[in-house]
Amino acid sequence: VARIILFDIDLTLIATGGAGRLAMNDVFQRLTGKPNPTEGVTFEGRTDHAILMEVIARHHLGDGRLMDVYREVAGAYLEELERKMAVSNGRVLPGVVELLDALRREPVAVGLATGNMRRGAQIKLGHYGLWERFDGGGFGDETPVRAEVVRQAIEEVARLAGIDPDPQDAVVIGDTPLDIEAAHLAGAQALGVATGSYSSESLLEHGAQAAVSDLSETERVVEILLA
Ligand SMILES: [Mg+2]
Repeated sequence: VARIILFDIDLTLIATGGAGRLAMNDVFQRLTGKPNPTEGVTFEGRTDHAILMEVIARHHLGDGRLMDVYREVAGAYLEELERKMAVSNGRVLPGVVELLDALRREPVAVGLATGNMRRGAQIKLGHYGLWERFDGGGFGDETPVRAEVVRQAIEEVARLAGIDPDPQDAVVIGDTPLDIEAAHLAGAQALGVATGSYSSESLLEHGAQAAVSDLSETERVVEILLA
């Protein structure tokens, strides 16, 4: 059976030093003139669509032309994100490159299931030379629903790999309970990785089939993914 392996990005593959939040803060500060315009907004595990819509609503920016404002803000965010990544103190998380290398030798299709917009994912992963490692995925441009992101990911990755888009063959790797919940709602399995703010125990409690402290034990992780 060919497996579909889907990676979350932030705090699963890379840490960007908060480049996304910094970029959104700048964009909304320009629009509202207020300091800390994203204060109190949760970013973790959510789609960019959901985050941007929440901030737009909080500052009453969308009145009567919500979709225009969304498109404007999304475009400005992507421009700002490129600048923030260029000066960010980020890194690739332990074992990621080795794991991606090892998966090349296995009968699997490797893609993304991320709340980032597609272009945002490209900017973040491209900064570390990792974008080309993934054959498609599901992204957070159009939906606040993470399970929809996973569903889109399975479809796109399977189509590009020429395999059956069966959710039962898919595994999502992520660092938050939202990644795990989304995987399950889409009919896929989930591997938790404790490189974000949740422990392995907590990710297992949220229903992950397995959890690891990071991705550095390549053989063990590959074994879990192919099990
Ligand atoms: Mg994450």
